[in-house]
Amino acid sequence: MARALRRSIILDFDGTIVDYRERFYQAYCNFAKKPLDCKTFWGLRAQNKKMAELLDSPHFLKDFDMALESPDLLQEDKLLCPPEFLHALKKKYNLVVITNRKNEKALLLQINTLGIQDCFSEIMTTADLDKQAIISQYSKKDVVVGDSEEEIIAGNKSGLITIGVLSGLRTREQLLKANPRVIIESIMELPKVLEGLDFLV
Ligand SMILES: [Mg+2]
Repeated sequence: MARALRRSIILDFDGTIVDYRERFYQAYCNFAKKPLDCKTFWGLRAQNKKMAELLDSPHFLKDFDMALESPDLLQEDKLLCPPEFLHALKKKYNLVVITNRKNEKALLLQINTLGIQDCFSEIMTTADLDKQAIISQYSKKDVVVGDSEEEIIAGNKSGLITIGVLSGLRTREQLLKANPRVIIESIMELPKVLEGLDFLV
């Protein structure tokens, strides 16, 4: 019901709501025998270098994935906006999270610890679900916000309004190739963009 009445804002989590780089780099260092320095590592990741190639053995990939979502390491994540920002946004829009995280329990714990557990009407992990399939259930007035091409391409395919955010790994040039409607520096700029959309509809 809420979905039909209010505009839904479908938010990616890592790189959009939280800065996960410290956690990701620490997990990498735990498994690499001779870890690259932080700058080199992120430079390669920005060029889409796969973790299986960056770790000394692809056999570490499963362990790396598990460690990456452990509650200990999740404490390294930092919110990219004050919690109050999301609480205020929630009053006007139906906020939904779609993330590639696999450990749902750890994610919910993290969201609680960050004090934003009341902000979202739905939290969906895509461990067993297809992001595209979830997004296609929303209407054309709804908005997808993400820091990677993945969300933008999925949103565009379903005719939703897509917003790329530069607080993750991708550069403006990389995101532009996925053709988002708007690109913003951080989700703090969302209210301004959304008000413009509300005016149009
Ligand atoms: Mg992301």
